Amino acid sequence: MDLIVMKFGGTSVADAERIRRAARRAIKAKLDGQKVVMVVSAMGKTTDHLIALAGEISSDPPRRELDMLLTTGEQVSISLMAMAINDAGHEAISLTGGQIGLITDAVHSKARIQEIQADRIRKELDNGKIVIVAGFQGIDSTGEITTLGRGASDTTAVALAAVLGAKLCEIYTDVDGVYTTDPRMEPKARKIARISYDEMLELASLGAGVMHSRAIEFGKKYNVNIHVRSSFSDTEGTLITHEVEQMEHIVVSGAAVKKDLVQFVLVGLPNEPGVAAELFAHVAKHNVVVDDIIQTIDEKGAASTSFTVERGDLAEGKLVLQEIAKQFNATRVVCNDPVAKVSVVGVGMRSHTGVAQKMFSALAEAEVNIIAITTSEIKISCIIDPGDAVKALQAIHAAFDLDKEA
Ligand code: ADP
Ligand code: ASP
Ligand code: MG
Repeated sequence: MDLIVMKFGGTSVADAERIRRAARRAIKAKLDGQKVVMVVSAMGKTTDHLIALAGEISSDPPRRELDMLLTTGEQVSISLMAMAINDAGHEAISLTGGQIGLITDAVHSKARIQEIQADRIRKELDNGKIVIVAGFQGIDSTGEITTLGRGASDTTAVALAAVLGAKLCEIYTDVDGVYTTDPRMEPKARKIARISYDEMLELASLGAGVMHSRAIEFGKKYNVNIHVRSSFSDTEGTLITHEVEQMEHIVVSGAAVKKDLVQFVLVGLPNEPGVAAELFAHVAKHNVVVDDIIQTIDEKGAASTSFTVERGDLAEGKLVLQEIAKQFNATRVVCNDPVAKVSVVGVGMRSHTGVAQKMFSALAEAEVNIIAITTSEIKISCIIDPGDAVKALQAIHAAFDLDKEA
C-alpha cells in the first residue's frame, strides 16, 4: 500500500471550512487505497499572534517558553483536523512532535531534527487510521519541547515522508506552485512545472518563503518527490525533484529577495591564520546562523570580515561582534541594519556566461546600489538597501525574461 504525506499550511487550515476541506482531501487519498499522514500547521496567523502576545509580556522571552507557547498553535489544528475526519465517518488520530518521537537537538526556536522514531505512526497507520501530526515541533533528548524555525512544518512533512518511505510529499498551500519569484512581489511571476532540489534549496534559502529550505535538503537526500500545490484547487502544482538534463538549458530559473537581514563588518582584524576560525567559533557558540561571509584585505594589510545574519539573531550577533572586536583590537565595527538580499538562481549558470553582467546591469538601470556581492555555482546574490528590494526584484525578473515561457 502506498503511503502519502500531505502537509497543510496555515492558510489552508485557517477556519473550520478549510479544515473540513483539507480533511476531505485526506479521506479521498485514503479511499483511493493509500496510507495517509497529514502534517498540519497552526491556523492562519496563529503563530504570529502568539509571538506578539509573548512580546506584550516580555521584551526577551526565554526561548524555551516561547517554544512551549508556539507549539500550542499546531496542537489546536491537529485536534480539530482529527475531529473533522471523525465527523466525516473515518478514523483519525492527532499526535504531537513528542508523541511521534521526533527528536531534535536542544536549540530552542531553531532546533534540528536528529531522528524520528515513527513506530507510533506506523502502528496507527496499520490500524487503518489517518495520522495527523503537528508540524514545526519536536522534543530534545531530555523531553523538552522544541520548534524547528518559522515555516518548518514543511520540514516535518518531508522528513516524515523520508523516514516512512513515502513516494510523495504533497505541500498544500495558498499558491498553486513555485513561481519564478514571489507572485505577491512580482505579479508577472510564472509558475514553474518542475524544479531541481538544488535550485529550490537555493531559492528557499534566499527568501522564497513558499518552502522551508531544510525540507528540500531532506527531499534531496532521501529521494522524496515534493509536489507544491494549492489547497483551494486541483491544478497541478510544481514538482521538486532531481535535476534532469533539460533543466540545464534554462540559465536562470527564479529570483528571490530576503529582507530582514543584518550585515556586520569587522575592520582592522589581524591578517593571520586562525582569526576567521576564532570569529566563527564565537558565532557557533551563540548559535547564530550565518548567511554570507566576505573577507578582504585592505591596503594596510589588515583583514576586514563581513557576514550577514537574520535580524532575529541581531542581539547574539552583536555579542559576537563585541567579543571579537575586543579580542583582536578591531579598528572599527559596523552594523548595517537592516539590509536585503536579492538573488537569481539557476543550474544553467554552471555552463553559461554573462549572468552576473546581466544582473548588475539590470540593477544599475533600476538605480539600485550594490553593497556586497556573493556567488555560488548556481546563484548570484547582491546585498542592497531594503527600500530597493521590490524594484530590484522586478528589474532582474524582467532582465532574465522570467515572465516568459522558457
Ligand atoms: P503556508 O502557510 O502554506 O506554509 P507560506 O506563506 O509559508 O504558506 O508560503 C506560501 C507563500 O509563499 C505564497 O503566498 C507566496 O507569497 C510566497 N512565495 C514566496 N516566494 C514564492 C515563490 N517563488 N513561488 C510561490 N510562492 C512564493
Ligand atoms: N506555524 C509555524 C509558523 O508559522 C510553522 C509553519 O507554519 O510551518 O512558522
Ligand atoms: Mg510555509
